[in-house]
Amino acid sequence: MSIPADLRQSRPTISFEFFPPATPAGAETLWDAIRRLERVQPDFVSVTYGAGGTTQDRTVAVTERIAQETTLTAMAHLTCVGASVAQLRRVVGQYAAVGIRNILALRGDPPRGGDGRWVAHPEGLSRAEDLVALIKTLGDFTVGVAAFPDIHPESAGFDNDVEVLVRKADAGADLAVTQMVFDADSYLRLRDAVAARRDLPVAPGLMPVTNLKQIARMSELMGTPLPQPVVRRLTAVEGDPEAVRRVGVEIATELARRMLDEGAPGLHFITMNHSGATLEAFGNLGLAAVR
Ligand code: FAD
Repeated sequence: MSIPADLRQSRPTISFEFFPPATPAGAETLWDAIRRLERVQPDFVSVTYGAGGTTQDRTVAVTERIAQETTLTAMAHLTCVGASVAQLRRVVGQYAAVGIRNILALRGDPPRGGDGRWVAHPEGLSRAEDLVALIKTLGDFTVGVAAFPDIHPESAGFDNDVEVLVRKADAGADLAVTQMVFDADSYLRLRDAVAARRDLPVAPGLMPVTNLKQIARMSELMGTPLPQPVVRRLTAVEGDPEAVRRVGVEIATELARRMLDEGAPGLHFITMNHSGATLEAFGNLGLAAVR
């Protein structure tokens, strides 16, 4: 079954996100996580594309290996950063050549160290919606896109974010996955506003926090502050790594339960290449039993 058809089924889809490792030790950790998470039969897994397109070869290699050596359906991320249209076509061709038919089409962030403004490659693309349209001309691909319940940092506001998602749907996007959610109401507001205009399944991103410093850094990079109640619960136990992890899994479980109760079509777990916290949240939700 295709990913969009899965997302429209009555049961929620489960997906896991990985990043391409930079070292042999990192690869071992990743593959251990993939093998453990494979056992719960997610609907798909995705592999990120490094900032500035820096991991292109590794993203292709990891996604290819997942597609060829596991039972998992793989989705590869792809960004427009620093790439001409000809280069983007080549990467899509590389994915197709190794049997990858699912791509998460992203604009990407401006490279770090610059003035923070987005600058497209002179022969490249400036918007994810253009990448969606390009990929759709290149073959029979399922295309996912990014969504931002807490409003994209460069966006004029909520209405613009909704409009951008509608435009991505009109360009051919089959599904959307959100930035990691820490406020279920923000997710539901965006999901409902999009649903009123287009039939685009929007799955929330979910990260069971295991490390307070790491999540604080990620939230800064995303330009989205963590909600105060979440910060309070995590900082109350910050001296005790085991307790941080337990509270992080609790928060993810509560958020997931609420969003599933409200009809979220799936959950996209950001695993950071580890299986433990994700499997705990998954188990707490009783998802294994209904799969
Ligand atoms: P766009 O949809 O092009 O939006 C970029 C900005 O332009 C937004 O502010 C948007 O509101 C505005 N905009 C777009 N179109 C219009 C329009 N027609 N009119 C007015 N304004 C418009 N980054 C990576 O580098 N690698 C990854 O693997 C990666 N994976 C991600 C996975 C998920 C699930 C998410 C949510 C994000 C991911 N990102 C990744 C980050 C993403 O690339 C950045 O957040 C980037 O800044 C925005 O990408 P986008 O695809 O949403 O861009």
